[in-house]
Amino acid sequence: MTTPSRRKAGEDAEVIVVGAGPAGSTAATYLARAGLDVLLLEKSKFPREKVCGDGLTPRGVKQLVDLGIDTREEAGWLHNRGLRVVGGGVTLELDWPDLATFPPYGVVRPRQDFDEMLARTAQQAGARLFEQTTVTGAITERGRVVGVTAKTGPDKREVTYRAPIVIGCDGVSARLALSVGIQKDDGKPMGVAVRRYYASPRTKDDYLESHLELWDRENDVLLPGYGWIFGMGDGTVNVGLGILSTSKAYGTTDYRALLKSWLDGTPEEWGFREENATGKIGGAALPMGLNRKPHYRDGLLLVGDAGGMVNPFNGEGIGYAMESARIAAECVVQALARTGPSRERALHGYPVRIEQALGSYFRMGNLFSRLIGHPTIMRTATKYGLPRKTLMKLVLKLLAGLYDPKDGDSFDRIITAATKLTPTA
Ligand SMILES: Cc1cc2nc3c(=O)[nH]c(=O)nc-3n(C[C@H](O)[C@H](O)[C@H](O)COP(=O)(O)OP(=O)(O)OC[C@H]3O[C@@H](n4cnc5c(N)ncnc54)[C@H](O)[C@@H]3O)c2cc1C
Repeated sequence: MTTPSRRKAGEDAEVIVVGAGPAGSTAATYLARAGLDVLLLEKSKFPREKVCGDGLTPRGVKQLVDLGIDTREEAGWLHNRGLRVVGGGVTLELDWPDLATFPPYGVVRPRQDFDEMLARTAQQAGARLFEQTTVTGAITERGRVVGVTAKTGPDKREVTYRAPIVIGCDGVSARLALSVGIQKDDGKPMGVAVRRYYASPRTKDDYLESHLELWDRENDVLLPGYGWIFGMGDGTVNVGLGILSTSKAYGTTDYRALLKSWLDGTPEEWGFREENATGKIGGAALPMGLNRKPHYRDGLLLVGDAGGMVNPFNGEGIGYAMESARIAAECVVQALARTGPSRERALHGYPVRIEQALGSYFRMGNLFSRLIGHPTIMRTATKYGLPRKTLMKLVLKLLAGLYDPKDGDSFDRIITAATKLTPTA
């Protein structure tokens, strides 16, 4: 039996998804699998580069598994077993916890390849992907978003696409949200991160490595953030650093120079020198702690970076983009099976579910980022916290959001209780 299209006259799709990063492709996949007619609009053409650390913790891997992606090593994924933390004169190897909710391994994969794989997954599910299509704003009618304006193709032809529901997955620029006046909340933390690839003998590593001592040498200040060294397994390493906006140095630091000065201090044999660089330094902002709300208003949902969904504890955003995309898709599927106020009620369920899934944990992250913005607190935490392995196991669970909210161990219960105690913003 074939289902008649539910698209109304004058509509180009039942749902328009703007941006085919992890958020957009995941949302489009779930929506298309539910039988909806989905238009996925992407400004670039795959394969395309995306500035990122390329690392997924088990939180991100869970999202891939949920989506039906084969994440076994046999399928070409480079697994890691935990995090190596370096700082305060100590090196600690902390394995990912073994939990009911998340797998015990993370993965590393270049975004150039990762994002295309997810976009093709959406296409295979039936979503129509239009590349080289830059959305310029929302079309609104009677206060409701009913489509988007865009420029498409090499000649940047002006076009419009219409649908009763639009999902903004256009990343940190959040152009679509801005076009309807949804601004970011400057009271929430932001991050800035830069990264570069180097040919390096450290390319194969069972651990993601993070360096907690990033010094602003000019002012002799320990910065709130960390440097990372992620072996890509293909002869190269992704090296970068991220800094939080909660320090005085934010906005005044030359991040590229900071990366260079950190890498110049690493052992020569690791290879992080100009002659081994395989590309340029790239950088971008990290919108954290749900810094752009409302996540739903008048036909427009915001998902992933467009909704400020980077974890303020650790700068991780891929897993959260995919998690929020899944929740958005579920709400949209329910909404499109209804009409009138009942449809609207289903759509308003999206911000409620995001709040339930991430709200209090991210709020605690916002507090954490404010605390470590004070150089003394950052220094004390690094000096006295790092040498204590048991404490660091708890810290890893907290920072990477890897705890079972129900039936977990004593650490999981501490974190769950702490999130409940975190005051609402
Ligand atoms: C240097 C750096 C390192 C990072 N490292 C990690 C890491 O190791 N692990 C991790 O989990 N997270 C990391 N992050 C964060 C992560 O990259 C983001 O959180 C994640 O990409 C968010 O996914 P998204 O789909 O919401 O947005 P994006 O990945 O930004 O995707 C947005 C998509 O929308 C498209 N687009 C934008 N504007 C328009 C428009 N107007 N019209 C049409 N299409 C548009 C873009 O081309 C893009 O394809 C890092 C970020 C940075 C900057």
